[in-house]
Amino acid sequence: MSTTVRYDFRSDTVTRPGLAMRAAIAAAEVGDDVMGDDPTVKRLEERMADMLGKEAALFVSSGTQSNLIALMAHCERGDEYIVGQNAHCYRWEAGGAAVLGGIQPQPLNNQADGSLLLKDIEEAIKPDDPHFARTRLLALENTIGGKVLPLSYADAATMLARRHGLACHLDGARVFNAAVALRLPVSMLARPFDTVSVCLSKGLGAPAGSVLVGPAAVVAKARRLRKMLGGGLRQAGILAAAGLYALDHHIERLADDHANAKSLAQGLSELPGLSVSVPATNIVFVDVAAEVALDFANHLAAQGVGVTSVYGATRQRWVTHLDVGEQAVAFALAAARDFFAGRDSRSLASVPHAEHS
Ligand SMILES: *Cc1c(COP(=O)(O)O)cnc(C)c1O
Repeated sequence: MSTTVRYDFRSDTVTRPGLAMRAAIAAAEVGDDVMGDDPTVKRLEERMADMLGKEAALFVSSGTQSNLIALMAHCERGDEYIVGQNAHCYRWEAGGAAVLGGIQPQPLNNQADGSLLLKDIEEAIKPDDPHFARTRLLALENTIGGKVLPLSYADAATMLARRHGLACHLDGARVFNAAVALRLPVSMLARPFDTVSVCLSKGLGAPAGSVLVGPAAVVAKARRLRKMLGGGLRQAGILAAAGLYALDHHIERLADDHANAKSLAQGLSELPGLSVSVPATNIVFVDVAAEVALDFANHLAAQGVGVTSVYGATRQRWVTHLDVGEQAVAFALAAARDFFAGRDSRSLASVPHAEHS
C-alpha cells in the first residue's frame, strides 16, 4: 500500500499502545520469567487463569505459538486433531502442528455459522486400529470469522468429543469479543474446554502476547514446550504489564468496536455492487462486484483507508478496533460513497451473498 494508512481496518492487530498503556509498561516490575522470577508475568497468568476459570496459565509470545503449544501438549507425534478447514490453527499457522509437532490434522468443513457438524466430528473420530492416527483432540475457535459460537453448540461438541476420550482446545484469540457480544462472563465460554488460547494483541490492544490457560498439568507441559520452541522470554513483564492494562481497560469497550462494525456494515450495505455480512462482533466481510473491485480497493487505499483484500479484491475484510472509532467509520463510509457516487448502480452486477469466513 503506497499511501499512508490513516484509518486502518485491516486487522485488530494494528492497534498501537496508547500513553497510559505505555506508562504501565514503563512502570512494570520485572524479573527473569524463564527462572520464574517475573512478578508481572505471574500476575497476568494468575489473573487470566482466574478470569477464564482454569487452574493455570502461561504467557506466550503469540497466538500461533499458543495454539501450537496447546496442540503439542495434548497430542503426541502420530496423533490427530479434529479441526475446521477455516480454523486459524489449521489454515493460517503454516502447518506448524504437523511440521513441528508431528500431529496430523483432520480438517472438517466449517458450517456457515463457524461450527463443525456433530455428525462430521463423530465420523472423523478413528477407531483404535493400527491403520489410523490416534484421534486425540477437538479444536474449535470462538469467535470464528467474527462469528460467535453458540454456547449450546460448544457444550454439545465437547460432550461428544469427551464421550470418545478426546481433549478439547479452544482457539479463543477473540474470545473476549464473544463474551462481550453474548454479555456473559468469559469463563462460561471457556468452561467446556480443557485449554483456551487468548490473544492480548488483537482487540485488547496490547503490543504482543497471548495466554494459554488450562489444567495445571497441561500448563506445566506447555511451559516445557514453550522453552523448546524458543518462546521463553526473560523480562517479559514489560509485555505482561500491557496485557494487565488491557484486561483492566479494554474489555468492556469491545462493545464499541461491535457497534462500529454494525454501523460500518449498515453504511456499506447501502451501496450498489457490495454485499455485506451482518457482523456479530468486530469483523465485516464485503463482497465487491468484480468489475469495480480493484478500482474500489485502490480508491480506498488512496484515501488512506486500509482494508484486507483477497480474491482479486472481490472480497474485503474490515475489522474495527481501538484505533478506528466512529470518526474513522464515518470517514471510510464517505470514501466508499464517494467511489460509488455517479456510478450507474444498474450497470453493476448484483453480488451474490457469499459465505464469509
Ligand atoms: C490472530 C489469531 C491467531 C494467531 O495469533 P498471532 O498472535 O497472530 O500468532 C490465532 N487464532 C485466531 C483465531 C486468530 O485470529
